[in-house]
Amino acid sequence: MENLVYLDGQWYPKSEAKVSVFDHGLLYGDGVFEGIRAYKGNVFKFQEHLDRLWESAHTLMLKIPMSKMEMQEVVLETLRRNGLKDAYIRAVVTRGTGDLGLDPGLCKKPTVFIITDKIKLYPESLYREGLSIITVPTVRNLPEAVNPAIKSLNYLNNILAKIEAKNGGVMEAVMLNAQGYVAECTGDNIFMVKMTGRGKKTARLLTPPAYVGALRGITRQAILEIAPALKIAAEERILTRHDLFNADEIFLTGTAAEVIPVVKLDGRVIGSGKPGAVTAQLLKAFRALTVKDGVKF
Ligand code: PMP
Repeated sequence: MENLVYLDGQWYPKSEAKVSVFDHGLLYGDGVFEGIRAYKGNVFKFQEHLDRLWESAHTLMLKIPMSKMEMQEVVLETLRRNGLKDAYIRAVVTRGTGDLGLDPGLCKKPTVFIITDKIKLYPESLYREGLSIITVPTVRNLPEAVNPAIKSLNYLNNILAKIEAKNGGVMEAVMLNAQGYVAECTGDNIFMVKMTGRGKKTARLLTPPAYVGALRGITRQAILEIAPALKIAAEERILTRHDLFNADEIFLTGTAAEVIPVVKLDGRVIGSGKPGAVTAQLLKAFRALTVKDGVKF
């Protein structure tokens, strides 16, 4: 049976789930979305994802035509209809269809669709060996222009950076903000581990604050909450490339990537050049959380 997609109140086979060419989500990138994951019948951090979707929409003055509870039900029903227990969930709300023109008032009703599909995992070898990444010239959007905290359908900033990453022969890239400070990666947040104290045995976890121009990643937040339980001090701090080059460990976080180690940045070997022990510890604790923290179905 073909995968079913929820679209404005109905479920359609994948090949028939279509939106209008006059949808402002397509014409202008006017809309918001979330990438969510289900693990063994648990939608991980579902409430947090719904909250972020609603906050993104609120900033765009886009009124989602259902309650959070209703969206939750629709997502769970889509998973059930597709017989999925482990899944990647894409929730999208666009401004809707309207005549040409930027004015959101041209659109009478937002379009809502939910795609649930099998997760396309990164190869396990990347978690064992770690990523090699680069810094790209495309600067992350200014928070004063299009705030990266809004998870909107305008992903061209990230796509330009992704193209540069691919041109450079790598899969992910560090994006700096307009001041040259580390913001995040094209589709992931970034963390570094610095060993401190006598014998360099105490791990400190650092990640840039969201105000430098980064999405408040839900995986990022989960890691910031897991760290203290593992007796790892975690802190949001402005970071430079120099800080990253001299990190003991670097890893990226995201719904799809989970926690993925980085072993090389711009030709510099990071730490031992192998995925680090702190990263491994955090990944293990994170994976344990994914089946617990969320909404069961
Ligand atoms: N930054 C960007 C630009 C992203 O697109 C994502 C993926 N949604 C992330 C960070 C990671 O966020 P999350 O952990 O909520 O998936």
